[in-house]
Amino acid sequence: MVTLADILGAAGAISGVADRTPLIPSPFMSAAIGHEFLLKLENMQPIGAFKLRGALNAVRALPEGVAGVTCCSTGNHGRGVAYAARERGIRAVICMSELVPQAKVDGIRALGAEARIAGRSQDDALAESRRLAAAEGLVEISPFDDAAVIAGQGTIGLEMLAARPDLDHILIPLSGGGLAAGIAVAARAIRPGIRLTGITMNRGAAMHLSIAAGHPVEVAEMASLADSLGGGIGHDNRLSFPLCRDLLDDTVLVSEEEIYHAMQVLYHEDRIIAEGASVVGLAACLSGKLAPAGPTATVVTGRNLDMQVFTRIVTGQDVRLDDHVIKGCPYAT
Ligand SMILES: *Cc1c(COP(=O)(O)O)cnc(C)c1O
Repeated sequence: MVTLADILGAAGAISGVADRTPLIPSPFMSAAIGHEFLLKLENMQPIGAFKLRGALNAVRALPEGVAGVTCCSTGNHGRGVAYAARERGIRAVICMSELVPQAKVDGIRALGAEARIAGRSQDDALAESRRLAAAEGLVEISPFDDAAVIAGQGTIGLEMLAARPDLDHILIPLSGGGLAAGIAVAARAIRPGIRLTGITMNRGAAMHLSIAAGHPVEVAEMASLADSLGGGIGHDNRLSFPLCRDLLDDTVLVSEEEIYHAMQVLYHEDRIIAEGASVVGLAACLSGKLAPAGPTATVVTGRNLDMQVFTRIVTGQDVRLDDHVIKGCPYAT
């Protein structure tokens, strides 16, 4: 599995490139929950998202002479893998579905990686990545179901508890569960009684439904403001599913309207530009679905936004997501 020792090893491996983001207080959110509320600013990583940690740890661990790497991605893992592959001077092919925003595809190409668009879902992108791995001798790096990736993401938990050993509750954006699994392994080892909540959108909550069912389940993939949280957990999930199932205290779902409002809050109150996936922890508290009982922190996971959509949100305009329209609302507390 993945242990604290693996995470400490990852911290050494990624040191100086993807580590040590600030953990800052949010006065507005602290007042809202009645306890200190802290933001771990992974949106400040070199690729604009925490995924660089896991990707770097995985790519640096590959044997000498490797031909190249491939992965499926909702955008940010691909960007991390592209960055790490460029650093090692090897080929990277990133497979994504049509649901991935153009800004993310462009960011991957800008790092010199090949971007392939395959189908309408993460499953389609995964199938293409596996086909390529077999056909072209590339190593496939899962965005979440990989021990080196999970250990890399776990370094976030190490840093949070090193900065604030008194944290009572960590709110973790949850998709394939690599981030939550890594943080949970670190946090449970360092502070066993800490509360750990995984949070995701109600449009396609793959890990939440899988934990409830007791096995990985498939979900229909839908457009969401939290596009980085889209996709399934893989029917053959080996690591992130059991770790999330065993180590998280609970999972909470938020709506698109709640994500919209929380993006406005983070921007207007904390002056932070971040993706929908980054604000689900705020959304869960602001909607009253979670009531933390002590010092609380969440991970602001990324900033790789479609700026046109972001501008519409922070100026209170309607946003269309395929079949669903989020009714605009100017920001007011
Ligand atoms: C990947 C990602 C997540 C979710 O991480 P998982 O390990 O898939 O659960 C959250 N936010 C952003 C910005 C991401 O890129």
